[in-house]
Amino acid sequence: MSKHQENMAKAATYLARFKEKGVLNRIAGEDLPAEGGATFETISPVDLAPLATVAKGTAADIDRAAKAARAAFADWAAMPGGTRKKLMHKIADAIVARAEEIAFVECMDTGQSLRFMAKAALRGAENFRFFADRAPEARDGRTLRAEGQVNMTTRMPIGPVGIITPWNTPFMLSTWKIAPALAAGCTIVHKPAEFSPLTARLLVEIAEDAGLPRGVWNLVNGFGEDAGKALTEHPLIKAIGFVGESRTGSMIMKQGADTLKRVHFELGGKNPVIVFADADLERAADAAVFMIYSLNGERCTSSSRLLVEESIYDRFTALVAEKAKRIKVGHPLDPETIVGPLIHPVHEKKVLEYIAIGRSEGATVAAGGEKFDGPGGGCYVAPTLFTGANNGMRIAQEEIFGPVLTAIPFKDEAEALALANDVQYGLTGYLWTSDVTRAFRFTDRLDAGMIWVNSENVRHLPTPFGGVKNSGIGRDGGDWSFDFYMETKNIAFATSAHAIPKLGG
Ligand code: NAD
Repeated sequence: MSKHQENMAKAATYLARFKEKGVLNRIAGEDLPAEGGATFETISPVDLAPLATVAKGTAADIDRAAKAARAAFADWAAMPGGTRKKLMHKIADAIVARAEEIAFVECMDTGQSLRFMAKAALRGAENFRFFADRAPEARDGRTLRAEGQVNMTTRMPIGPVGIITPWNTPFMLSTWKIAPALAAGCTIVHKPAEFSPLTARLLVEIAEDAGLPRGVWNLVNGFGEDAGKALTEHPLIKAIGFVGESRTGSMIMKQGADTLKRVHFELGGKNPVIVFADADLERAADAAVFMIYSLNGERCTSSSRLLVEESIYDRFTALVAEKAKRIKVGHPLDPETIVGPLIHPVHEKKVLEYIAIGRSEGATVAAGGEKFDGPGGGCYVAPTLFTGANNGMRIAQEEIFGPVLTAIPFKDEAEALALANDVQYGLTGYLWTSDVTRAFRFTDRLDAGMIWVNSENVRHLPTPFGGVKNSGIGRDGGDWSFDFYMETKNIAFATSAHAIPKLGG
C-alpha cells in the first residue's frame, strides 16, 4: 500500500464518526441538535462527496450558548491563573496526542495538503501553550504614583465573548483566537465557518476531555447570516473576536452597534512582495512562491502582488513561473502534494472568474491559468502567475484568496512604495533588498501591520499580529490579546490625609 493509500484509509476511519453521527452543537457540555432540528451538509472539496450533516444553529441556539457561557463565567474568571495554565497545557497535550486525526480531518474538510496541515495541528497546540504560560500574569497591571496617591491598575476578563472564524486553516486559527480568551478568563461561544466545521468540533471535545469545565467553551454551528449575526447581536456577549473578510467585518460592526460590542478584526489582504534588483533573487523567488502557493493561496498573509524592479522583472518572473509550473497539485493526503483543491465549488468559481478577469484586463498568463483535473475531480486550480499587470487591474486590487499571483514592474523605490500602498488593504508586506538603509526607509513608510525583510512569513508568537487599513482592527499576540479580552481598571489609594474641598460647610 502506498503512503497515499494508507493515508486515505486512516482518513476514512477518522471521518466515519462524522458520517454516522453528524456534527452537533456543544452547549454547556451537551451535544445538541439545532433547535427546530435544521441541518446542512458539509462536503469535501476533493470529490464533493458529503462528509457530515451539521446542526444549523440560529438565534435560539446562540441564546442558549450565550447563557451557558454567562453561567460559567464567574467560576472560570475566578480560577487562579496558575490553575488555568495547567489546564490549558493539558489541552495542548491532548491536541498533540490527536494531531494526526486533526490533520487528516482538516485535509479532507478543507482541501489543504497534509504537508502543511500536519504542522497546523502542532501549531494549534503551541498557541495553547503560549497563552497558558501567560495566564498567571494576565491580570497584572502597573503602579502609578502621584503626590498623596498610589494608583494601581489591574485587568479583569471582559465576560463571555464570541469567536467567529473563517474556513481557511480553521483549526489553527480557532486555537489562535480561543486560547488567549480562555487564558484571560473569558468564556466563549465559537461559531466556525460553515464550509469547514469538522475540526472545531474536535477541538471543543479535546478541551472538555482534558478537563475544561462545562459551559466555558460552547460551539454553535450555522451560517453567518443567522448564527453568526445572532452572536454579534447578543447582549450577554461582550466582545467579538472575528477573522474573515473585510466586508463581513463591516457588517459585524453594524450588527454589534446596539449592544456596544468591542470588536477585534483580522480581515483580508492584498499583500505585496517587493523585490529590488540588489536582492538575493533565488531566495526571494522561493519566498514569493511559498507565500502565494502554500496553503492553496487561501491565506490572509499570502503575497498575492509581486512588485519587481524593472531591470530584473523578466528574469525574476520567469524564475517564479518555472517554479510555479513545477508545483505538484494533487490529493491533499498524497505526501507529495503542495496545492490541493480549493475549499468549495463556490470559491473555486470565484478564483476561476478572477483568472478570466485577469485575461480580459490584458495581463499575461505566465503559469497555470486554468482548472486542474485532479484526483476526485474536485475544486483544483493550477498555480497561476499573471505578468504584464498594472496596479489598476482588479487582479492587482482585489483579494482572490487562491493560488494566483499578479506581477507588476516598478522603476524605482518611490514607485515601488506608491504601488505597494495603493490598495485598500494593509496586512503584511515582504521586502527583498540588500540595502539596509533602504529597508529601514521603505518599511517605515509601507502601510502594513506586519512586514518581513528578506524573509517569508515566519511567525514569532510574542510579536503583534494584525493589519492596518481594511485589513483589520486590533492586534493579537502576547499582551495585545489580553488587552482585547480584558478590561483595565484603575484603583487610586490615598496615601495621606490630603485636603478635601469642603462644599456646603
Ligand atoms: P467570511 O467573512 O465569509 O466568513 C468568516 C466567518 O464569518 C464565517 O464563520 C461566517 O459564517 C461568518 N459570517 C459571515 N457573515 C456574518 C455576519 N453577517 N455576521 C457574523 N458572522 C458572519 O470569510 P471566509 O470566506 O470564511 O474567510 C476568508 C477571509 O478571511 C479572507 O478575506 C481572508 O483574508 C480572511 N482571513 C484573515 C485573516 C487575518 O488574520 N487577517 C486570517 C485568515 C483569514
